[in-house]
Amino acid sequence: MRLEDHRIIDIPFNAAQHMGGAITPEVLILHDTAGRLTRGNSAAYLRRNDVGVSVHFVVERDGSCEQQVPTNRRANHAGKSTYHGRSGCNEFSIGIEIVNPGKMEPIDGVPLRGLAWWGQILTDGLEGDLAVKATPEHGSGVWMAYTEAQIETVTALARALFSGIPTLRDIRTHWYVSPGRKVDTNPLFPLEQVRNRVLGRDDPADLVAESGSIPMPAVTLARVATAGSRLNMRRWPSFNPNVIAGIPNGTVVPVLRSGLFDGRGWLCVQYDGLEGWISETYAQLL
Ligand SMILES: [Zn+2]
Repeated sequence: MRLEDHRIIDIPFNAAQHMGGAITPEVLILHDTAGRLTRGNSAAYLRRNDVGVSVHFVVERDGSCEQQVPTNRRANHAGKSTYHGRSGCNEFSIGIEIVNPGKMEPIDGVPLRGLAWWGQILTDGLEGDLAVKATPEHGSGVWMAYTEAQIETVTALARALFSGIPTLRDIRTHWYVSPGRKVDTNPLFPLEQVRNRVLGRDDPADLVAESGSIPMPAVTLARVATAGSRLNMRRWPSFNPNVIAGIPNGTVVPVLRSGLFDGRGWLCVQYDGLEGWISETYAQLL
């Protein structure tokens, strides 16, 4: 995914009815649609409604996504909200709505079932994976897990936005900016995982990578030299599924650190606004 002219060029854009003036986005705010799971249902409502709500992006259960407001225009997604002392988050945030039924009431029996606010009964393993969970922020309820495809899309979208919008600096949820009034995203959302993958902070794997490597002298450069057309850039110095970018062969990148992990040399480099690790085997120090 790539941001160009305030739109993610790889996904459809269908303009929302309620679009405000110019904004400078600083925070990404994640929401649940708290609505039916049928593809396109919430997207259509958010595009056009009589209550004045709108959002920048909608992510369906199958991971497909639609943009409805350009990232430099105001959408009405957060309502009464405060971020670190500043109120009215719509003026400085981008909203992502993730399709999810929201909080459900438990219904006795096996398998677990939940009663959605619009009267539909959802069953664990049928419409989605359900769990009972309580947190101080959410209270207790039956909640539906997000699909793997949704998490991947939200992560890719957030990365593209952070890569293309230098003023963005945080990822939060609606419950964080509207405490006591809102409970989305739900307690099953892997918020820290997404924050770490996009923001690259506070991750134990980062600390291991840091302590096992040494900083390179300033302005050390390396040229990518791989047999393929692109070299995988990884979040951590390991071959686990942690690829965050593909660096075209022949690209020259700044090198920040180098280290030996699991018997193999790795370099921490900068590419496309991201920091990540490449195998030393496929890089030529200049
Ligand atoms: Zn919300």
